[in-house]
Order: sequence, then structure tokens, then C-alpha cells
Amino acid sequence: MTAAASARSILTQLHEVMASRMHVQGKLDRVVEIIGETLDSEVCSIYLLRDGMLELFATRGLNQAAVHVTRLAMGEGLSGTIADRIETLNLAEAKAHPDFLYRPETGEEKFNSFAGVPIVHRERAVGTLCVQHVDPRRYEDVEIEALQTTAMVLSELIANAGLVDDEAARGLTVEQTGPALLTGLTLVKGVACGDAVFHQPRVTIDQIVAEDTEAERQRVYRAFDRMREQIDKMTAQAEFGVGGELEEVLQTYRMFAYDEGWARRINSAIDSGLTAEAAIERVQQHTRMRMREIDDPLLANRMHDLEDLANRLLRIVSGQLGTAATQGLRRDTILIARNLGPAELLEYDRRRLKGVLLEEGSLTAHVVIVARAMGVPVLGRVRGLRGVVNDGDTILLDADRASATVRPAQPMAEDFAARMAASRRKQAAYVELRDVEPFSRDGQRVQVMMNAGLRDDMPSLALTGADGIGLFRTEFQFLVSATLPQRDRQTRLYRDVLDTAGDKPVIFRTVDIGGDKAVPYLRPGAAELDENPAMGWRALRLALEREGLLKAQARALLEAAAGRPLNVMFPMVSEPWEFDAAKAVFEDQLRFLRLQKKALPDQIRYGAMLEVPALAEVLDQLAPRLSFLSIGTNDLTQFLFAADRANPKLAERYDWLSISIMRFLNRIVKATVRYPVDLGVCGEMGGRRLEALALLGLGIRRLSISPASVGPIKELVRKVDLPEIEEAMAGFIHSPPADLRSALKAWADEREIETD
Ligand code: PEP
Ligand code: MG
Repeated sequence: MTAAASARSILTQLHEVMASRMHVQGKLDRVVEIIGETLDSEVCSIYLLRDGMLELFATRGLNQAAVHVTRLAMGEGLSGTIADRIETLNLAEAKAHPDFLYRPETGEEKFNSFAGVPIVHRERAVGTLCVQHVDPRRYEDVEIEALQTTAMVLSELIANAGLVDDEAARGLTVEQTGPALLTGLTLVKGVACGDAVFHQPRVTIDQIVAEDTEAERQRVYRAFDRMREQIDKMTAQAEFGVGGELEEVLQTYRMFAYDEGWARRINSAIDSGLTAEAAIERVQQHTRMRMREIDDPLLANRMHDLEDLANRLLRIVSGQLGTAATQGLRRDTILIARNLGPAELLEYDRRRLKGVLLEEGSLTAHVVIVARAMGVPVLGRVRGLRGVVNDGDTILLDADRASATVRPAQPMAEDFAARMAASRRKQAAYVELRDVEPFSRDGQRVQVMMNAGLRDDMPSLALTGADGIGLFRTEFQFLVSATLPQRDRQTRLYRDVLDTAGDKPVIFRTVDIGGDKAVPYLRPGAAELDENPAMGWRALRLALEREGLLKAQARALLEAAAGRPLNVMFPMVSEPWEFDAAKAVFEDQLRFLRLQKKALPDQIRYGAMLEVPALAEVLDQLAPRLSFLSIGTNDLTQFLFAADRANPKLAERYDWLSISIMRFLNRIVKATVRYPVDLGVCGEMGGRRLEALALLGLGIRRLSISPASVGPIKELVRKVDLPEIEEAMAGFIHSPPADLRSALKAWADEREIETD
């Protein structure tokens, strides 16, 4: 039997069961038999949510005595995990899963493989459907799809039978009526307050089994046409100018709308006997599962775009067209969604949209680029978000502190309002500092530059009054593109950046991709896959091997900087020869352009990043060849402490203000002081006031930091007497206090220097 035919056979049998006059328990018993037989699985079980617990309602293969006896809390065991996270599990070895829980009454110890899908009703899990085999194997896509289809049918049965009462399914507990603090990952910084609005009122699917497959196919075709028209229109009307990242984002999005593979998958779901709506939903469920399995943030982002489109298609085909955007926002809004596509976000009224909370989302997601361009704070990865928030709840979003308060008590709301007002006043004060130069109290000029990576970041240069771009992360263009950015696209970006910067210097860092900033089109061979990406085949190591990549970038930078100065910085230099080799690539390109009689940069300054501790030992060799050296404290400190910078468990463990880091930085300053090399720091550390104070005390006179930190750091510089802090730091380094952070803070407090 073909996959479509077997799916159709399951569906026909399920349809017969549903239409029969059997009582509900009888139907469930029959369903586990049908699935068990068709998938040839030793076990098939249905768990349903009753009184807040998942109860085993029907099984084929487990002990019958366990039926209505085995109960799991949400999040408990594999079934509890599936229901809690609303996700599919496909495991060759169930016992190896961290959430595996053995219940002796079920007699399931002999089964190894496990697949389970959630039964979802109104976006909440009301149960799970699972199969198990003795044989340890992963399940085929068609098997998972059969389970997903069955789960959809079961959801309908459960709702019609009133088997799980709606309040229980909605699970309105104290957590959903009292104040609640949510935490997540800051995707776009900012503070905002508004009422919760759900992006998508759920599309209800009334019919799952098709009566006329051909008619369903025509409905999907028509919906595809309409969706493509909408996307084309949106792409043509995007307001953020031409050639920016947003255009790239929308083009990728458009590519998906026209993706034949996707249309084919929906078509084959229709072949299996589903209605158009059910077919789209099933393909979407499958996509969702894939997305969770993929550990590649870039691919995951692309999948989000696809899901955004699937939602749109579902709404068109079902005639349930409204998102909250089409209905219009009537009040200050914090938008709630599992995820959003870039185009969906663009549909909202910017005056009313104050913030966004997402259950998923990642820093490099397209929607985040759009949100940043719109100036809307976003908190992502908020677990259980849609279970806790109700439509209309007041939400205080503090993306700066990676948290949000739902249904705040009155004093909390007042406190927050005061904080927002203070933050606005502070911002206004920093704006006033925009044209004020950061001279220290003793009259020394400190360079306060900003970090950037996208065209959208550039307006911040004028807004903050930063002294230039101390780190332009060129890899961002590579990260937001679906394909390798061609040389002319790179040239255009670099030229635009230099045009916007005017007389202010820009330090372009050559691509730091590879490792954790993997791009799908530049994968290492399987044998070279890094187990430890931060220390792996990345940055200059990769660029020197893929010389074509560095050559293209060198040409793009040299051509973009024709007639003006160019600053080039190489990342992750570990030994001096790597700097020489990278510089040679640029010099070769320069010779070539000269021969071609092309316009050249007025002056080229080459520099390196100090991120690998080993480089500190050979600065006497390298420093004489450098125009500038920039300490990347993000990477440097992770290597010094052997503590992964991306591991949240270690995030608080080691302090930037530790004596070892201070002594290490001090040695770098001392080792370079005798050379005419411009030394700076471009890691996040320099954007925090107390840390910046320490860096100034070590003799650092150039900081490159995120735009939001420029104002606060300028203010700090103006309050500090540099010789005084240098003396204090020398004392601390010589005779370390028990806690350097407290000691520095006390030093600053005594002088009324604000460091929070
Ligand atoms: C650093 O490592 O400190 C740095 C500035 O580079 P990135 O954060 O891009 O790795
Ligand atoms: Mg780095």
C-alpha cells in the first residue's frame, strides 16, 4: 500500500468508528486497535486530561488493569512532556529520554521505541496518543503523520463527547488568574506596558475527513493563489527602503510562498482523505516537529517563516481571516504568539503595538530584525506563555530584564510606571549627551564607539553620538541570508555603512562565521563537525581555508572604501602568522585593483581581535605589525574561564570583575603600551558601567559597545578622574580585595559615580 493509501485507510476506518453509535470508551478502544494494527505496533495508547492529570483511557498492548489507573501530571513522563510542550516525540530508545518514567502497572518495560503526539483542542493539549515497539527504531514520517491525523480526529471526538470538560482543558487555575512573572530571552530590548492581544484567534477546523477530495484540492489551489498575491503585495510595499535586511527577509519569505515541495506535501495529505484545512494543519504539525528537532537556529528561522505562511493559508482556506492585525488594535497592546513571521508583524499598527511576547523565537530570527526596525521590544522563549496569559490581561514587559509581569497587583503596576517614566527621563538625558564629547574629569578624551552589524543599526550612530563603529560584525549579513551574499551585495552594504558613518571611523571585522554562528551554505564536511564550536573551525580559521570567501570580502571592502580610509579587523587571531596571511589576502586584492586602475582606499589600517588567550603571549611579535588591537572580552573570558558564553548555567558563575581577568587585561595593556597600537575593548563588558570603570582604570581608552550603552558610558567617563581610578586599580591588582566588585562599587559610591 502507498503511504497515501494507508493513510486513507486509517482515515476511513476512523471515520466509520466516529460515525458509529458506539459509546465513547468503545470508540477509543477501537481507535487504539485500528492504529495498532495499521502501524503494526505492539502498543497504542490514549491518555486524556481529566482533573488536571493525564489518565490512560485506552490501550492496546499495555496491561488493561492500568486503564483509568495510570495517571501522569502535565510534564511528567513522556506523555506528560508531550502534552506540556505540545510537541511530538519520536524515540528509538524511550528509556534514554530524560523525562522517561516507568509505571510498573503498565508492564511497558519490554518496549524500546516510542512515538507520541499531543491531542490538541483550542491550542491546548487535552491528551496524547502514543505507540510503542519492542524493536528500537525511529518511526517513519508516514507513521508520525498517521498519528497526527488520528490525534486530530480524536480531538474532535473528545470535544463532541464532552469527555474532557472545557474548563479543565483550558485549565484555568490560580496561575491563570493571579499575578504571574514570566521570564524568557531578550530578543529586542526595551520596556513597555499594554493589554494582551493574541495574534491569532484559533482557526477552528470543523471537518477533518473530506467528502470530495478533488473539491478540497481546488480549495487549496485557490488559497495558494490568494496567499501568493498577498505576499507579493506586501513585498512590494515594504516601507523600509530597498536593499536592507528587511528586503532580504521578505524575499526569503516569498520564496517559501512559492515553494512547490510544501504545496506537494499538502496535496498528498489531501490524497490521504483529509479536508483542505486538516491537510494544511497536519503538514504544519509536521513542520513544527521538525523545527523542534533542528538544532540549527538559521534553519529553524526559515521554518518559522514557513509556519507563518501556513497559518495564513489556513485562514484563507477556512474563511476565518482575522488576525488581531486585521481586526485592528484598539488599545496599547502586548502581542502574544507562539511565533510570528516578519510579514505578520508588519501588519500591525505601530502606534498601538508596544511589545511582543513569543513562546519561541531566537536572536537571529527574521521577525526580530523587523521588530528592531520598528522599535518594538520582544521577549522570546517564554515557556507556557499562552497557558498563563488570557486575552486582555495587563502586561508589564521588561525586556531589559528578560521578564514580563502578567496581571500585576496595583503596587507593581505603579512601580513599573515609575520605572518607565524614569527610563524615559534617562533616555532623554542621554539624548542630550549626544553632542557632548566624553572627556574625563581630568580632561582626557575617551573614545566611546558602538558595535553594529546591520544596516538597521546605523541610525544609532547619529542618535547616540558615538565616536564611530568600533566593531562592525560583517557576518550578520551572512546570517540573515538564505544563500551566500554575493560580492556586489557585500560591497553595497559596506558602502552604505561608510556613507552613513560619514567622517566617523568604521572598523569592519571580517566574517566570524562557523562554530555556533553556522550558516547552512558553509557547512564543514561531516568529518570536520565541531564538537566544541566556539573553539572550532570558525572565524579567521575558516576564512583562511575558504580563501575565496575572504578574497570576495576583501574586494568588497576595498571597493566600498574607495577614496576614504578603511579599517579591517581579523577575528580570533591565535598566532601572528594568521594575521599576516589574512592581511596578504587583502594586499593581493589591492594590487589587483591597482593594476585595474580602480579607485582605492586612501589608507588601510589592519588590526586584530584579541580573543584567544595564547595571543597575549606573543604581543611583542604581533603588536609592531598592527594599527589597532581590540580585545573581544566575550570570547576571551569564556576561554580564560573555560566557561561557554552561551551556557545559561554558567552565565552568573564567573565575574568579569575577577582578579584573573583584570590581571590578564592589565598584562595586555602593559605589553602593548610601547607600540603605536590603538588598544580598545569591544566586548559586552565595556557597556556596563562598573566594568567600564575598571577598564578605564587599567588604561583602556577606547570602548566599543552596544548603542544603548553609549549614553550611560559617556556619562560615566565624564565623572571619572582617570589617574585616580588607575591608582585604585593598580592597588586592587597588587593586593586583591576579597570581592573586587564590591570594592570598586564602594570606590565609585564614595565619589558619587553612578554605576548601576
Ligand atoms: C567578543 O568576542 O568579545 C566579540 C566582540 O566578538 P563576538 O561577540 O562577535 O564574538
Ligand atoms: Mg568574539
